[in-house]
Amino acid sequence: MGLTSFHEFQATGLTLGTFFRVDDTPLADPARFARDVLDDPLDREHIVSLVHPRYPGRPAHVFQAAAARLPGPDRIMLTLTDITELEYEKRDLIDLATVDPLTRAFNRRKLADILAEETARARRYATPLSVVLFDIDHFKRVNDTYGHDVGDVVLTEMARVVMGLLRECDRLARWGGEEFLVVAPGVGVEGAVDLAERLRGAVAGFAFPGAPGVTSSFGAAQYRPGEPAEAMVKRADAALYRAKEGGRNRVEREADAPPKNGGAN
Ligand code: GH3
Ligand code: MG
Ligand code: MG
Repeated sequence: MGLTSFHEFQATGLTLGTFFRVDDTPLADPARFARDVLDDPLDREHIVSLVHPRYPGRPAHVFQAAAARLPGPDRIMLTLTDITELEYEKRDLIDLATVDPLTRAFNRRKLADILAEETARARRYATPLSVVLFDIDHFKRVNDTYGHDVGDVVLTEMARVVMGLLRECDRLARWGGEEFLVVAPGVGVEGAVDLAERLRGAVAGFAFPGAPGVTSSFGAAQYRPGEPAEAMVKRADAALYRAKEGGRNRVEREADAPPKNGGAN
């Protein structure tokens, strides 16, 4: 920053809060933060990250904070240990274990966790939950005509287009080769059909690089409390099958859906 002393730094009006963040909020009151760390009854891990004010997008340094009382009234020493490398290694490992490397959608393993969590929530709070299963139409032909690399790009772009249209609480997972599953909490089958229709339109209207005219077919189903998550996915799969049979680039819902007012949209 071109400053030569701490006094110059103080004179700029900048504070620790300009650089340090705790849970994405500026560390406005370091003394209070030190007391919180010291007095934490649960003895949790307190993480502070350092961001460059001019380049907020740059990878932050990550510190673990510890506090100790010093002799004298109200004197606390706050120690920040740089754990950046460990933290990034941890994030990489979590990424490897949960995300499909080609499409960046969640993998099957993470999807199992997501479905277990969301069905438990739907049962406990009696909130609707739906899934949309979709599969790229004639994808074998895409590979055969334009090559496997173009096929890979279609998969990657497909996931990107779909993720861009989802709500924050929705999750996209790669179900299989060219099949994806959207988990949509808080949404009944009507809402899932609307969502699927939006996705269908966006996919059909998207210019996939090197592969014109790519479409997908969709099946939507709503969770019925008490059943295993697989039963819901199975109904979405049966609906998807009908969408294929019906001519592709279509949305179908589960056959015997609950009544229309059976869930929020
Ligand atoms: P439909 O409309 O009935 O779904 O026909 P389809 O050709 O899409 O279905 P099919 O199951 O016959 O073919 C799926 C193809 O997806 C075959 C497989 O090689 C391809 N595929 C699966 N995973 C990948 C991948 O990671 N990359 C690429 N490029 N192709 C993949
Ligand atoms: Mg297909
Ligand atoms: Mg398929």
